Amino acid sequence: MEFPITELLDYENSVAWIIEHFHPGGMRCPMCGKPQEQAREFRRTKRSQLLVVYRCRDCHMTYNLYSGTVFEQTHLTPMQVVLLMRGICKGESSKVLAEELELNYGTVLTLRHEVQWNAEHAQATTPLPDTHTETDEMFQNAGKKRRGTL
Ligand SMILES: [Zn+2]
Repeated sequence: MEFPITELLDYENSVAWIIEHFHPGGMRCPMCGKPQEQAREFRRTKRSQLLVVYRCRDCHMTYNLYSGTVFEQTHLTPMQVVLLMRGICKGESSKVLAEELELNYGTVLTLRHEVQWNAEHAQATTPLPDTHTETDEMFQNAGKKRRGTL
C-alpha cells in the first residue's frame, strides 16, 4: 500500500520547519546578510511549488528558502525536503525514500551523502552543550551547502 505522504503534509508548516532548522534566526541575504524582512518578494518559482524568491533591497541578490543549503540546486518541494530529512535520520533506504517521495534515486543518494557528510563533520568539530542544541546544530550543519561540491 502506498501512502500519498507528500500530499498529507502542509506546505506552510514544511516551509516553517525548513526555516527553523536550516535558517535559525530567519532567512538572510546570502550576500550581505540582511534579514529577509528587508528583501522584497521578487517572484515565485514554478517548480518547487511556488517557492518565493526574494530580492535583497541592499545588494539586489536573489535568494530563496534553499539558498545556502544542499537543496539549492534541486527542485524538491518543501514537503519532500522535510520527509527526506526525516527518512535519512530514521535510516530508511534510499530506494524506499525515492519511491515514497517520487524522487530520482540518484538525487536521493547525492543529497543523503551531502547531509550525512555534513552531520558527521559538524559533530566532530562542534562542542555540544545539550541534546536540543545538538539536534538543531546537526540539522543546520547537515543542510549547509559545501562550496564547490555541486
Ligand atoms: Zn543583500
